[in-house]
Amino acid sequence: QQSGKKAGREWSRALYREAQSLMPGGVNSPVRAFRAVGGEPIFIERGEGAHLYDVDGNHYLDYVGSWGPLILGHAHPAVVEAVTRAARRGFSFGAPTEAENELARLVVESVPSIDLVRFVNSGTEATMSALRLARAYTGRSKVIKFDGCYHGHADLLLVQAGSGVATLGLPGSAGVPAEATAHTISLPYNDSAAVEEAFQRYPEEIAAVIVEPVAANMGLVLPQPGFLETLRRLTTQYGAVLIFDEVITGFRVALGGMQARTGVLPDLTCFGKIIGGGLPVGAYGGKRAIMELVAPLGPVYQAGTLSGNPLAMAAGIATLKELQKPGCYEELERKGALLEEGLRAAVEASGLPLQVVRFASLFCLFFSAEPVLNYAMARKADTRRYARFFWALLERGVYFPPSQFETCFLSLAHSDAMLEETLHAIAQALRVVAGG
Ligand code: PMP
Repeated sequence: QQSGKKAGREWSRALYREAQSLMPGGVNSPVRAFRAVGGEPIFIERGEGAHLYDVDGNHYLDYVGSWGPLILGHAHPAVVEAVTRAARRGFSFGAPTEAENELARLVVESVPSIDLVRFVNSGTEATMSALRLARAYTGRSKVIKFDGCYHGHADLLLVQAGSGVATLGLPGSAGVPAEATAHTISLPYNDSAAVEEAFQRYPEEIAAVIVEPVAANMGLVLPQPGFLETLRRLTTQYGAVLIFDEVITGFRVALGGMQARTGVLPDLTCFGKIIGGGLPVGAYGGKRAIMELVAPLGPVYQAGTLSGNPLAMAAGIATLKELQKPGCYEELERKGALLEEGLRAAVEASGLPLQVVRFASLFCLFFSAEPVLNYAMARKADTRRYARFFWALLERGVYFPPSQFETCFLSLAHSDAMLEETLHAIAQALRVVAGG
């Protein structure tokens, strides 16, 4: 088996040409187009464990993991079995199923702040609905978010957003009327004083603060000590709702997410990615008094034809049950630490100005001389160097995110030998970057 370029990419190229004649930019989500790294995407045929196989017969060690859901790796046998069994019983009923109870129970039992949960189909739906709910609960309009955090593509949240918006260097999105974002306040991540000032300025107008408790859509940026605690204190003091967007951190940094690791409990939590095991699922949940406002109990309308879909529930249940097995998160931490240690050594040997950031099974390499604490600092990274690094890695059979403003994901399927192979490729790729 050959990695990287050796088998060519002709079939990917042909499919991409056809795709561009059929879909905007040839893709159904912008970062997939590889624009930020100045090239063309590879088309995937299948995934197995930690590996991706493209349509030309190349294989790659995958550090994207479908952008987070695949914490068990691709096509994990238990998940495949569960989805297959569910499929035989029918795909969708638009009526309640026992599987919804089971996944809801797993979420409620795992996540400290959740009494009630509602399933939706994506992270975007989860954050959009949680904010509608927070506004209804408080009777207020304003929402605080943070620059470089990404909460999906709902109108009110497309302000200084991360992920693809950051990759394309957009301030927001065209097609969003000023009225839709008039109540959105975007502040620098980790800036507790700015949040305090906003509350002092609008003491009775702020409905919610929404935050990624670990920011993973501008590269990887960790909350500084006290930041999340300050958000909790201020939202409580001013009667606003604290929303943790745990779409990435949920069931990844611990079974109970970042709130379990920090002890800072939000009022509402948003999920996506891992709770669907790779199928389209999102969820929002939280305190009973707030969640009881959701229809049909209360006046906040939110619905979905495919919400609680049996196949998606089956994938989520199977994934969470695997993650409940003793030692999973310790193993992910051990792998993360192993990779981090090797990364730091490779970075030092390269002599390049780089920042290694790692938290649990999330990591990121910033092509930056300074530690990155917020979006303004992230934007100073050398994206051209990142692009060169990305292609040099791909040639060596390692698939990193095609943008500096994204995070790498480890899975339980990444063996120590694979991590060693990856570190070897990274050391070589950094030499290529350093060489010009
Ligand atoms: N919130 C966070 C923290 C995310 O990372 C993402 C997606 N990357 C979303 C929300 C949106 O989720 P989706 O793409 O499923 O709509």
